[in-house]
Amino acid sequence: MLRTSHSLHRRALLQGAAVVAGLTALSSSAGASATSTTSAGGPGSRQSPIRIRPSTTEPAHLPTLHVHYPHDATVTMTYVREDADEPDGCTVRGDEETVRAELPPGVGSLTVAGVTYGLRQFHWHTPSEHLVVAREYPIEMHFVHQDSSGHTLVVGVWVTPGPTNRTLGHLYDHLVSECTADDPVGHIDVGALLPRRHTSYRYDGSLTTAPYTEGVQWVMLTDPITASPRQIDRFRAMFPTGNRRDVQDLNGRVVRTDRGPF
Ligand SMILES: [Zn+2]
Repeated sequence: MLRTSHSLHRRALLQGAAVVAGLTALSSSAGASATSTTSAGGPGSRQSPIRIRPSTTEPAHLPTLHVHYPHDATVTMTYVREDADEPDGCTVRGDEETVRAELPPGVGSLTVAGVTYGLRQFHWHTPSEHLVVAREYPIEMHFVHQDSSGHTLVVGVWVTPGPTNRTLGHLYDHLVSECTADDPVGHIDVGALLPRRHTSYRYDGSLTTAPYTEGVQWVMLTDPITASPRQIDRFRAMFPTGNRRDVQDLNGRVVRTDRGPF
């Protein structure tokens, strides 16, 4: 299926669309096989997201993640548009659109295996893009980094219902709608958006939105953070039909993890 028709199929008018209710971790679509983009001769064979399974995951000693995220940053909340050329674009929620928090250069970084990656922006998908066996989470965050050579590393963090996350609540007070101005938000503790433990699943994949560029290092943290059901619903209300890409074929790739046995 072509991306455009897939996107159109997934689109829904914001007005009149029902906000998906409930907080279940299981989805009826979670058992479906990977779609379309790779099998249709799309962008490549090392695509993201993926389904993480015990049979294709191996334990490993992984290079430590040295996380240097700011605890008092000003971020700019911006709506990422994919339909700027369409007349109803301001009210249509494309499944490749999101709200993104952009950071000034140099305020956050991550060093792994001796390479330092600058934190450029983070954003959200609902429901989660990566699945663990059949489990999905209501939200997945992506922290997008680049090193000085332009290599991309994304840290993914699942969000599960539980205690309120104050930082997430502060950011979600500033969820900007499509076609509205960017909104700078101060005093953001970016470090509070990560779980305490940094065990992870790592694999080589791609961007999950066009142009699906490969060569992206993925680090999915095994432990979710929590947000209150109300906080989760605030983001889901922005994207009533979701803004995630379907899982892609592994094509022989192996996921490595330091989480211990499943
Ligand atoms: Zn993303």
